[in-house]
Amino acid sequence: MSKELAALLMERGIYLHEIAQIVYDLQIGFVPDLTLEYCVEVLTGVLEKREVQFAVLTGVALDKLAEAGLLTSPLQEIIQNDHPLYGIDEVLGLGIANIYGTIGTTSFGYLDKEKVGVIGRLNCNKVNKVNTFMDDLVAGIAAAAAAKIAHASISHIGSNLNSKTVPKS
Ligand code: MG
Repeated sequence: MSKELAALLMERGIYLHEIAQIVYDLQIGFVPDLTLEYCVEVLTGVLEKREVQFAVLTGVALDKLAEAGLLTSPLQEIIQNDHPLYGIDEVLGLGIANIYGTIGTTSFGYLDKEKVGVIGRLNCNKVNKVNTFMDDLVAGIAAAAAAKIAHASISHIGSNLNSKTVPKS
């Protein structure tokens, strides 16, 4: 299914390596031996998650329906014009970002504000006519992958803890 999802993203003008670059830039300051190849590997794992797949399928379908003018009013105009107060696109992206904990949430907030890389391109509607959901889906996927890498890189800290070292409270 992750292959189908990657193909769907490609159909919308987004390549996995572009998302991987965002993930790399988010985490290289914390994980010095990080590689782009590893980021792609982690991203592929994120795309295997059912909740990610459902969120992407939903968001892309709504973008495509809005492009074709097939939604009912006023939702058609809201999504077509990327209404600034709509916010459901961010909710869907956050749903993806949250799957590996709060690191994903904060990374999503950063990406949503800074619109780095392909996210900025999508936000300017330069790839398709309607990308209301797509930019948030990409930000969510990148944030989730960054969180997964962060957890993997610092998990050894937790493994050193045991009942003798953890103070009882
Ligand atoms: Mg959006």
